[in-house]
Amino acid sequence: MTNADLSITQIENTYLIRCGHANWVLVEEGSELTLIDGGYPHNGADVERSIEQIGRRLEDVRAVLVTHAHVDHIGGIANILTRHQVPVLMDPLEVAHAKREYLHQLSPVKVPLLLWRRGAPRWLFDVIRAGALDGAELPQAQGFTDGAALDVPGRIVPVPTHGHTDGHSAYLIPNAGVIASGDALVTGHATSSLAGPQFLVCPFNHDRAATDTALDNISAAPADVLLPGHGPVYRGPMTTAVEQARAGRTSMRP
Ligand SMILES: [Zn+2]
Repeated sequence: MTNADLSITQIENTYLIRCGHANWVLVEEGSELTLIDGGYPHNGADVERSIEQIGRRLEDVRAVLVTHAHVDHIGGIANILTRHQVPVLMDPLEVAHAKREYLHQLSPVKVPLLLWRRGAPRWLFDVIRAGALDGAELPQAQGFTDGAALDVPGRIVPVPTHGHTDGHSAYLIPNAGVIASGDALVTGHATSSLAGPQFLVCPFNHDRAATDTALDNISAAPADVLLPGHGPVYRGPMTTAVEQARAGRTSMRP
């Protein structure tokens, strides 16, 4: 456990949990839950704590969805699967990444590209403490079997957003009008001086051009709330969020 504070925002049956530099999402249907992403390796206990704070138990989680297999999104999942086995689903193109047959992640040699950014040295210190260098993999990873609503609590619909990684997927929670965007579209990051909808800074994106094109799918999603992989909740039309990110028309963070 990182002992970082949990910030929980509820929209209908969906919760955005922010903890240190990581976000994850819980979706409720009756007494059952789907977990989307799970933070860094040391966030496993924080994920469990967030489940308890919304009045549920780890055993209520019936499925885990992964936006993409970066260590700050799957580390905590790998940890909790050692205590509670459930299906772990993702875009078929992300499965080999999650099994670490290859790794599309900012390599240590590129970290100096970030260090000139305000906030980056502190971020690096924090994420190493959260287990960023421990690595993570999900040998249980399975690809979706269809492109429609998944048979998981919340009847969640995958939204292909390839680019940040080759198999990145966002997720639409239809009942809540919410899209969990992972790192395809974020609203803040410790290494960014911008606030509001934005791309992650360049070294984090595997394919920057595809990351841009993928936003067409977020723009078209029937949602008016964005729960990003980093940063706070955004409320408003997805078309506006995507336009802001593309134009870089975001206000400077105070
Ligand atoms: Zn990422």
